Amino acid sequence: MTNQDDQFKKVISHAKEYGYVFQSSEIYDGLSAVYDYAQNGAELKKNIREYWWKAMVQMNENIVGIDAAIFMHPTTWKASGHVDAFNDPLIDNKDSKKRYRADVLIEDYCAKIEAKIDKEVEKAAKRFGDTFDKEQFVATNQRVVEYQEKINSTLSRMAKSLENEDLADVKALIEALEIADPLTGSRNWTEVKQFNLMFGTKIGASAENSMDLYLRPETAQGIFVNFLNVQKTSRLKIPFGIAQTGKAFRNEIVARQFIFRMREFEQMEMQFFIKPGTQVEWYNYWKETRLKWHLSLGMGTENYRFHDHEKLAHYADAAADIEFKFPFGFKELEGIHSRTDFDLSQHEKYSGKKLQYFDPEENKSYVPYVLETSIGLDRMFLAVFSNSLKDETLEDGSTRTVLALPSVLAPIKAAILPLVKKDGLPEIARQIVEDLKWDFNVVYDEKDAVGRRYRRQDANGTPFCITVDHDTLNDHTVTIRYRDTMLQERVNIDALRDLIKQDVDMRTWLMKM
Ligand code: ATP
Repeated sequence: MTNQDDQFKKVISHAKEYGYVFQSSEIYDGLSAVYDYAQNGAELKKNIREYWWKAMVQMNENIVGIDAAIFMHPTTWKASGHVDAFNDPLIDNKDSKKRYRADVLIEDYCAKIEAKIDKEVEKAAKRFGDTFDKEQFVATNQRVVEYQEKINSTLSRMAKSLENEDLADVKALIEALEIADPLTGSRNWTEVKQFNLMFGTKIGASAENSMDLYLRPETAQGIFVNFLNVQKTSRLKIPFGIAQTGKAFRNEIVARQFIFRMREFEQMEMQFFIKPGTQVEWYNYWKETRLKWHLSLGMGTENYRFHDHEKLAHYADAAADIEFKFPFGFKELEGIHSRTDFDLSQHEKYSGKKLQYFDPEENKSYVPYVLETSIGLDRMFLAVFSNSLKDETLEDGSTRTVLALPSVLAPIKAAILPLVKKDGLPEIARQIVEDLKWDFNVVYDEKDAVGRRYRRQDANGTPFCITVDHDTLNDHTVTIRYRDTMLQERVNIDALRDLIKQDVDMRTWLMKM
């Protein structure tokens, strides 16, 4: 098992042990790729959602938020292209009976070659020391050049076959590369088939009157179909945005990555309606703005990178992902897409209704262009959670597990601990809880020695521990202990509220954007 696998396993078991994420219907052995958020997880998720909503809606006078239904008229998905084209190519292994995404098998193959390139670079960097010129090395080293050519030719052949719907060639490529089932090593593959990711259901009480529906695979279409209603009732002028958060459903073929890829998940999307011709400017603006939002949480600049798409979806004229360094490597966390007028034009065509904006400056009507920012709330949760989980060795040689969540997102902001369960200390601690609970989510904890309680709160991600001891009886002060530094300070009880607020207030964090 690699270090990465180990780290990821730790993340999953910590999430369960500390009441963040449970497998859905666990008592029935769970449901694949479906998860429940537990008492702490629900709070963390809510805080992430709020952090996004504040940054996108509350802080922008030209962006408003809606909450559209999950069920939508089925023609929506004809118009959006999902009925015909929301497919992934799947392949089964006949021996292991495991199912894979054919494109992911090929991409993983390329990622392995890329790892070899990284190794060569690392070796050369050591050999050449300060004089090492990475760019030159990558461009001229025979072995690296061959590796890179192999990656390029493989990916471009795959892209071409997928675009031409030539699934036989995708299979031929898998065979030519001698790709084996990663779990068993078998190369006994079925043909590649297209698989539509939408979940179907029915609405209506009787068989005759029922209508086939889909569970929405993205929240974006709820925004497009409401574009004109919102524009008219809000009287917003272009450029303006509509945001929404909510559940989306995809029958993912491979779902083995905890909450990274789920069949029921939550998205936070914003569609920004603009004048045609201004899309490049807004595309760059939103790429930069969204990255700033991520960086404001202080989870390390080195953990983010952009991946600009070369192969574009049918609706897009530019697209990039913000990738995050998850325990299993850099993967997509958020997408920024320049969607042209594709969606609104399609809905015009299928509904027969005009979805145009009258531009008073230009004195004419047009179908606006759209820039989309789309982030998975669960993926963001995983990014925050996995990045925060650390095993630390302390100066005295002992170790501790700390969940160093950005304090603004932490489910519980402070734990109030009476040093002992007598002498009136619990009463004072309870009184502090009563005072603070109006502003923050706080807990009272009197079980075990105080050192153990500190460690428990560290592992739970609580940024502050407040201890009431015998001195408190005389001078109205308590010890406040900081999770990340483990430093302790003596402060007056009356100062607690401001001290905590200063640190956890969304305002403080969003100002860093
Ligand atoms: P991927 O390539 O990883 O399947 P995608 O490109 O299909 O993702 P989009 O359709 O652009 O994803 O969706 C926008 C965002 O929604 C993604 O960046 C991701 O954060 C989130 N998302 C998409 N699918 C899932 C899923 N199955 N589980 C959790 N989050 C998801």
